[in-house]
Amino acid sequence: MKTDVLIIGQGICGTFLSWWLEKAGLSWLVIDEQRLFTASKAAAGLISPVTGRRIVKTWMIDELLPFAQDAYRRMGEELGATFVEQKSLVDFFPTPQMRLAFLDRYAEDPQYLQLPENERAWDEYFRYDFGYGVIGPCWLVDLPRLLALSRKRMLERQALLEERFEAELLIVGEQEGVRYKDINAGHIIFCDGVESAVSRWWNLLPFAPNKGEALIVDIPGLAGAGLAGIGSVGTDDMERQHGGTAVFKKGISLAPWKDGLYWVGSSYEWSFQDTGPTEVFRKRTEAVLQDWLRVPFKTVEHLASVRPATLERRPFAGFHPRHPAIGILNGMGTKGCSLAPYFASQLANHLAKGSPILPEADVKRFSRVLSH
Ligand SMILES: Cc1cc2nc3c(=O)[nH]c(=O)nc-3n(C[C@H](O)[C@H](O)[C@H](O)COP(=O)(O)OP(=O)(O)OC[C@H]3O[C@@H](n4cnc5c(N)ncnc54)[C@H](O)[C@@H]3O)c2cc1C
Repeated sequence: MKTDVLIIGQGICGTFLSWWLEKAGLSWLVIDEQRLFTASKAAAGLISPVTGRRIVKTWMIDELLPFAQDAYRRMGEELGATFVEQKSLVDFFPTPQMRLAFLDRYAEDPQYLQLPENERAWDEYFRYDFGYGVIGPCWLVDLPRLLALSRKRMLERQALLEERFEAELLIVGEQEGVRYKDINAGHIIFCDGVESAVSRWWNLLPFAPNKGEALIVDIPGLAGAGLAGIGSVGTDDMERQHGGTAVFKKGISLAPWKDGLYWVGSSYEWSFQDTGPTEVFRKRTEAVLQDWLRVPFKTVEHLASVRPATLERRPFAGFHPRHPAIGILNGMGTKGCSLAPYFASQLANHLAKGSPILPEADVKRFSRVLSH
């Protein structure tokens, strides 16, 4: 079997890379082992224009957001589904200090921030003592649907092998290309998430794997809570159309999930024994929800995975300095939904047309380290 690009992994990175490669006229084949938990399957799917306790603008968001929005819309049109919806994030202040931080930030740069018209608008559903601000527009990606529909299409086209990729079987020639079992490929690109952190090709990159857990909960009393108190963040029509509500935050986040359920999370752990769901997280999160919600809830699922985060919080895209047939698209950290569409496109165009990859993301910046 011959292909231009062999892709390892069908998370958000591998899915977008295959999509853009096709647009660039290159052939591809994906190898992905079905797993219960992957970073893309555990993610809420939120794209927020601001980040952190200081509510600063997310890196490159003015470019990433419109790009991602358009890419999700186009992919959705091709696969017959809506993959992205505009939302507002209702940010309940957990402390008076957080309220002040929001107000200070609002005074400095209100581009993505709003103050509500009615501070008590969510009283029926939530307990909160220090008011709230609104962050928007945010976007919520339906990752479960996007991954499932993309996978289905790949299988129909016989462009996906559902098996584990065994690195020791990869033959990297002196000349061009690679060989894996009966597959000859011009390039192999690793989109295997946190596995690259321990791979023989990429383990020298400064990965900083970070575990996250989330609960999927049923909150019948919150469904259709509408847009109370969101004020004039201009998303009303779309939200009403899709019956969704806002995303809520008070220390933890509460985001609409599939089937009318909610995603609640998450943890950020740099040090962990195992990668699965823990009782400690479930109990702690249920206690926080109990305290926060005025309406009953029930846990129906528990997710856990490891984010392929990096020490300098920038992605890894490009080709190995010593093995130009071997590439990577990884290191999306906590922001795969906004970064993956953009950098997958850069990598595909780099391969097809030789166009540059943004230096902050190009693995060329680690040429010395990778050449050891
Ligand atoms: C709890 C949690 C919440 C998150 N919330 C958000 C959010 O709201 N917004 C956001 O933007 N980001 C969020 N993230 C981060 C986001 O999930 C990641 O940045 C992104 O999913 C990484 O995608 P990926 O394709 O690189 O890796 P993955 O999704 O891990 O995909 C890797 C794929 O490679 C396959 N694979 C690996 N090794 C092999 C092998 N040897 N053989 C075959 N297949 C293999 C795996 O099965 C998997 O399908 C969250 C992450 C977590 C854990």
